[in-house]
Amino acid sequence: MKRVRPFSISRIQSFDQCKLYYKYKYIDEEESELETIESFLGNRVHEALKELYDSVRHGVVRSEEWLIDKYTQLWEKNYHSGIKIVNDEFSPEDYFNKGKNCLIDYYREYKPFNQAKVVRTEQRINFWIRYGDIEYPFSGIIDRLDWNDKEKIFEIHDYKTSGFLISQEEADKDWQMALYHLAILKLWPEAKKAKLIWHYLMFNKEIVSFRELDELDKLQGAVIEKIQEIESCKEFPPNKSPLCDWCEYQNICPLWRHPKEMEKLDINEYRNDPGVKLVAKYSELEEEKIQLKKRIEEIEKEQEKIKEAAIELAERENILIIDGPDKQLKIEVKDEYYTPAKSENPDLWQKLRELLMKEGKYEDVSTVNRRMLNYHINHGSWPKEFIEKIKKFLIRKIEKNVRLINKYY
Ligand code: SF4
Repeated sequence: MKRVRPFSISRIQSFDQCKLYYKYKYIDEEESELETIESFLGNRVHEALKELYDSVRHGVVRSEEWLIDKYTQLWEKNYHSGIKIVNDEFSPEDYFNKGKNCLIDYYREYKPFNQAKVVRTEQRINFWIRYGDIEYPFSGIIDRLDWNDKEKIFEIHDYKTSGFLISQEEADKDWQMALYHLAILKLWPEAKKAKLIWHYLMFNKEIVSFRELDELDKLQGAVIEKIQEIESCKEFPPNKSPLCDWCEYQNICPLWRHPKEMEKLDINEYRNDPGVKLVAKYSELEEEKIQLKKRIEEIEKEQEKIKEAAIELAERENILIIDGPDKQLKIEVKDEYYTPAKSENPDLWQKLRELLMKEGKYEDVSTVNRRMLNYHINHGSWPKEFIEKIKKFLIRKIEKNVRLINKYY
């Protein structure tokens, strides 16, 4: 049986968002000091709520002021200069207040916190997911686990400080909370039903979902399939997206390293950088090409008009050559049949193809279509084993190219 380092939902999500990020974080285990203000805020809010509920667990309901004092202390104690504020329209104080308002709303909504009995807070859970005879270790942190003694049901609570609210459908399909249900089911087999509760703190809104046992079973299959895809992955390309701004590896990522290094230079150093010079020249030539292409289009349009006039003249005068100062214009008439392209007339194209096949002439005019072949080989639409089989007849060609793109997005 295969044993590996525990997987987590954030590990799986990062693979889907950017394979290179996944490689940096989970394979190369690159260190990073960078922390974004959003994750700093989220951590402090989580810690403050943990402290509040730890007291509740011991029968003590703290005041709202106590909670905000705790949050303020945690914020001040942990704040450091390496925290990155991507959206610099807002100050650290704005973010602090955002977290504070979340806590105030939450406190007023749930005080005296007796909706259920607190079982655990910020609890790391390690468990196995199994499907058939395959199993993988998994780990995660449950923000809060409650036993609702009135409804006789476990409640799994997750605090979210993002400014984005998921839909009910997304909650019903969410893997993370469903896996936590699976984890507590392994600890308490009677937890066949559990309430999955997301607290979207910025909106002061709860979203609730449930999972049936057969859904948990299917989920394990889907997660294992995903893990196997991750484990068999050999290529880890970067994926440029708005999330890059929050990525702690921007300074080493090949998509961002040069632009980020350039941000540190003064204007003269920037202009003299060899890379900047190459791009400036390439871009200048590209602009020239655009202007020339426009001019060529204009010339071609003008020539087209002359061509029409020349053909008209030749037909009127019944001549095939028109004399000019240095050259002559020869009128050529070609009368041939041509085959329509599939995109031009699909119906006609299909009928012609069928006729050729029926008459046994198809082989005479068909050939191995390189474009289609390349598409199937390089886009994974054919089974891997088949591609391996035909690889020995193929020639590998690595093409390197450059393309001008807009800065950032
Ligand atoms: S900066 Fe963007 S592309 Fe580069 S590793 Fe991070 S998320 Fe991926």
